[in-house]
Amino acid sequence: MSNIIQTTNPVIGKVVEALKNRKITGLAAVDAAHARKLILDIVPEGAVIGIGDSSSVRQIQVLSALEERGNRVINGFDPGKKIHDLKSHFENGFWPMIEATVCDAYLTGSNAITEDGRIINVDGNGNRVAGMIWGHPITILVMGQNKIVKDLEEGMDRVKNVIAPEHLKRKGAPSPCTKTGYCHDCIGPQRACAVTSIIESSPPHTKIYVILVDEDLGLGWDRAWPQERINRIIRNHEEHMVMCPMPECIFEKGNNDKLWEMARQKRRGNVWP
Ligand code: SF4
Repeated sequence: MSNIIQTTNPVIGKVVEALKNRKITGLAAVDAAHARKLILDIVPEGAVIGIGDSSSVRQIQVLSALEERGNRVINGFDPGKKIHDLKSHFENGFWPMIEATVCDAYLTGSNAITEDGRIINVDGNGNRVAGMIWGHPITILVMGQNKIVKDLEEGMDRVKNVIAPEHLKRKGAPSPCTKTGYCHDCIGPQRACAVTSIIESSPPHTKIYVILVDEDLGLGWDRAWPQERINRIIRNHEEHMVMCPMPECIFEKGNNDKLWEMARQKRRGNVWP
C-alpha cells in the first residue's frame, strides 16, 4: 500500500512523513472514496471492528462498506438505534462501547494532529481514547485536513477553545465553555471533558494508522479561516453527529452502578430482566 499520494494540501505530506518517525503509518487520501478504500485494505476480511464516536468516520460512509463486505461492526453510536431507557442505553450504547474497545480493529476520528505527528484528543467517557491505544492489534484514525495544527500549543488551544465548546454546545451540556466559547478548566459536575490524551507513537501492541483526507471532516477549524469554510464544516458535522447515548440524570439515579451490573451479568451469559 503506497502512502505517496498527491494531495492539494502539502501539509498532509509533511504529517505523513513525520508519522514515520513515530512508528505510525500515515496515509494520504485524496477524498472520502479513497479513504474508504484504504480502510477496506487495512481491515482484514472477517475482522470484528469497533467504532468510536466520530462524525468524520460517518462522513466518509465507510461503515456500510465494511458491513457489506462481511465485517462485523460494533457501533455504540448508531443513529438508527434508538435509546429511550436504561435497558436500550445498555444494549445500543454502553455495551457496544465496551465490546468495541476489545476487538480486531478500532476505527474512529481524532480532534487534532500536529505537523510533527502528535495526535491530540479530548474525551468525556474516555472510551474513544482507550480504544485508540489498547485492546486490538490495529487502530485506524480518520482525519480531515482541517484537523492539522502547527504544534502542541495550537492543538491544545484548538481542542479546548474551539472543539470542546462547539461539541458540548451541540450535545446540550451545561459546561461554562458552551456559553463563552472557551475553556474555563471547570471542576465539578458540569465538567464534560474528563480525559485529554496525546499519542506520540504506536504503543507496542497496537499498530496505529492515520488516514489524512484532503477534505474537511468532523469538527475543528482555525479561527482565521473564512467564515464560509467554518460554516460548511459545522453544517457537515451537524448532519453526521449523534447525540450521546446516555439518559439524563444517569449518575444522580445510580444508573451508572446498574449499567456496570448489567455488564457483569452479560459477561456471565445472564440476561438483565
Ligand atoms: S474543562 Fe469545562 S469549560 Fe473546559 S472544555 Fe471541559 S467542560 Fe468546557
